[in-house]
Amino acid sequence: FMVNADGSLGQRNDVYCASIEEKLGIKASPTAVLVYGDDKGEVGPGAIGYLVGEENRGLEYMFIMMNAARYDVGLQGLGVSERAYQHAVAYARDRVQSRPVDGSAKESVAIIHHPDVKRMLLTMRALIEGERAMALVGAAAYDTAHHHPDAAVAKQAQAFYEFLVPLIKGFSTENSVEVTSLGVQVHGGMGFIEETGAAQYYRDSRILPIYEGTTAIQANDLVGRKTSRDGGALAKAIAAQIADTEGQLAARPSAAGQKLAKQLKAARESFLQVVDFVVANVKSNPNAVFAGSVPYLMLAGNLVSGWQMGRALMVAEDKLAAGEDVQFMAAKIATARFYGDHILARIASLRDTILEGGDSVSAMPLDAF
Ligand SMILES: Cc1cc2nc3c(=O)[nH]c(=O)nc-3n(C[C@H](O)[C@H](O)[C@H](O)COP(=O)(O)OP(=O)(O)OC[C@H]3O[C@@H](n4cnc5c(N)ncnc54)[C@H](O)[C@@H]3O)c2cc1C
Repeated sequence: FMVNADGSLGQRNDVYCASIEEKLGIKASPTAVLVYGDDKGEVGPGAIGYLVGEENRGLEYMFIMMNAARYDVGLQGLGVSERAYQHAVAYARDRVQSRPVDGSAKESVAIIHHPDVKRMLLTMRALIEGERAMALVGAAAYDTAHHHPDAAVAKQAQAFYEFLVPLIKGFSTENSVEVTSLGVQVHGGMGFIEETGAAQYYRDSRILPIYEGTTAIQANDLVGRKTSRDGGALAKAIAAQIADTEGQLAARPSAAGQKLAKQLKAARESFLQVVDFVVANVKSNPNAVFAGSVPYLMLAGNLVSGWQMGRALMVAEDKLAAGEDVQFMAAKIATARFYGDHILARIASLRDTILEGGDSVSAMPLDAF
């Protein structure tokens, strides 16, 4: 309804809900098709809109909202992943099936004893912990950018935050589909049955890599504005910070710290190879670069999350040694080790795909599909 000058409700504006969409998931969040009149008198006289702010600055205003929304959708990915994880852990402790492979029991055991179920639960957990740490580091950078008294520090924090946004959005939501799918898998056949609730997380997660810009759109931003525009300078500055963490990890007395230092180093070097490739080829061979844009986003998100797991490992080791919150710290260390072995390990294959895989995408003629 239009609002009269005295604040009372006036005549109806020409805006109608044409339908409520039937969706794969998020069914409690209705998505509507709105018709804003058609000016032909078929629906009504035409809708009346209002200018918000100044003329010709709409796109700029919209991006303030979009950047916040991208961050928030990344957190949605994290939230639904955590729910799927907790659900799967509870089921894995409860469901009894098969004897253990190591012969440690004669009877069937809860499935959480089976190494493959543990691998699935740990994959879920490691992705979630890495992504959560990345999101919090991003939030801290945002606060620094908006409140630090030194303008140079604030500017640097803003650039770092902006580099992280496509990673927080793209990496955490792509992985939410993997994590919630693993949640279904942990439930076995019962995962496919609605009454366990595992399938709902999977369905709900599927929108996350699509709305507020698909993963490819986040990756275009990462390649273009965030990496190529400054010739890879910011990406390399972040890599230098990761190298500092590697140095600290390598100096740890623990085998876990030293191993993660090596894994992080290999991952960072792959990242730098990819950044050089992107910067060198984005103008001369854009098809090859953009064929690898989503793998680049996944590689960068994986590296930044793994970096945080390295930092977390050092804190957890120190706190464990001090006898603080022993069970939590031991689990954090185990999760960081798993991240190095199973998640950072994906980076080498992503690197090869990006550096070598562009030509085979270009080679396929469009009419052959
Ligand atoms: C449940 C739901 C709620 C929504 N809510 C809102 C809302 O509140 N407000 C709003 O404004 N919108 C909303 N949307 C719209 C949503 O943001 C878009 O659907 C989404 O951004 C993708 O755009 P598209 O549908 O036009 O896909 P398309 O742009 O047609 O994309 C199709 C495919 O092509 C790829 N693609 C397209 N362009 C490129 C490119 N340049 N490079 C590489 N790949 C590319 C995409 O990655 C994707 O895989 C909603 C959508 C849904 C499903």
